[in-house]
Amino acid sequence: MEVLSKRICSMGESETLAMTAKARELQAQGIDVISLSIGEPDFNTPEEVKLAAKDAIDKNFTHYPPVPGYADLREAICTKLKRDNGLDYKPEQIVVSTGAKQSIYQLVQCLVDPGDEVIIPAPYWVSYREIARAAGGECVFITTNPENDFKITPQQLEAAITPRTKLIMFSSPSNPTGMLYTHDELRAIADVVARHERVYVMADEIYEHINFVGSHASIASFADVKERVITVNGVAKGFAMTGWRIGYIAAPTVIAKACNKLQGQVTSATCSIAQKATVAAMLMDPTTSRDIIDMRETFRRRRDMVYDLLRAIPGVDVRLPQGAFYFFPRVDSYYGKHYGDYHINNSTDLSMYLLMEAHVATVMGSAFGDDRCIRLSYATSEELLREALRRISEALSKLS
Ligand code: GLU
Repeated sequence: MEVLSKRICSMGESETLAMTAKARELQAQGIDVISLSIGEPDFNTPEEVKLAAKDAIDKNFTHYPPVPGYADLREAICTKLKRDNGLDYKPEQIVVSTGAKQSIYQLVQCLVDPGDEVIIPAPYWVSYREIARAAGGECVFITTNPENDFKITPQQLEAAITPRTKLIMFSSPSNPTGMLYTHDELRAIADVVARHERVYVMADEIYEHINFVGSHASIASFADVKERVITVNGVAKGFAMTGWRIGYIAAPTVIAKACNKLQGQVTSATCSIAQKATVAAMLMDPTTSRDIIDMRETFRRRRDMVYDLLRAIPGVDVRLPQGAFYFFPRVDSYYGKHYGDYHINNSTDLSMYLLMEAHVATVMGSAFGDDRCIRLSYATSEELLREALRRISEALSKLS
């Protein structure tokens, strides 16, 4: 008899976390590895957020919170959604979870039946695929290209929809490409969704505040599709709060209730202290908050620097990302080349080569559904980024 379920055996592991674990293993052996693998801001959590957490401990917020989150937190999230995104939600439409990943997992469990099709534009964030499959969903990937900034067209979406389509999952700003959909592009996608009454949309907006080109657009802002859009967000990326593990959904009430029921069977609720800290984060206005603005401007400087360094490497085809903190350059001109015992035939080979030879951890593009590319996170210091890019350039120059 097999020990493990077929379900868990067929699930792929999270490659972002796996590459980060490999980098940590090498670092533990004393090897000086620079990690550009995980998407994690290197800033400290803002002071007012930390103070709110300390205050929550002192005030003994140490008991089970309500399953979907404290009332004041869900109110604060509604305030944020109105202030930043022009979206009207009531607290009962908000469910706070232990990271946006859990929010997405629960949502997909609540929406997708075995055999339902889940449309995922590629490149996509690694976990969408496995989360959809874990619910028995059949993934339908839409291929995009760098020339189109890795964005789908309404025509592509229309062609991918079938009577079995249940859900579309996408992020904007995008992990891994750093591209974002404009208001008009989302309107055109919403037009397609509006024509297909069975189709729901999961809009992952976790990189909302890391946007270098203008205002953030939410597909939930279009009234004709809002009842079929679930907006996912959290505090990890925009507020340097990865370890606090707070994500949330804003959803039609029936979906929020279902996620609440599931969460009641999974975690009971999210950490009380982290929730109270998040109230303070939600009350920070991104147009005036120094912390949010400074983080974005630092990311912008790093982006510009890494862009110049990547462009200077022969055979690397890179586009300027508009948001998030990733580059997703094409590197397939190196496939078929070798150095010593290293033979580079795909993005995994190249990523492993860069890890072992250059001591720089990246993530293979295949994890995100595009084997032509690799992902580099630039959420680290300029000094380390400069050194990492020097090493990458040197290692690539050895391949012939
Ligand atoms: N979302 C981040 C990333 O893509 C964190 C790791 C993960 O959960 O995948 O690197």
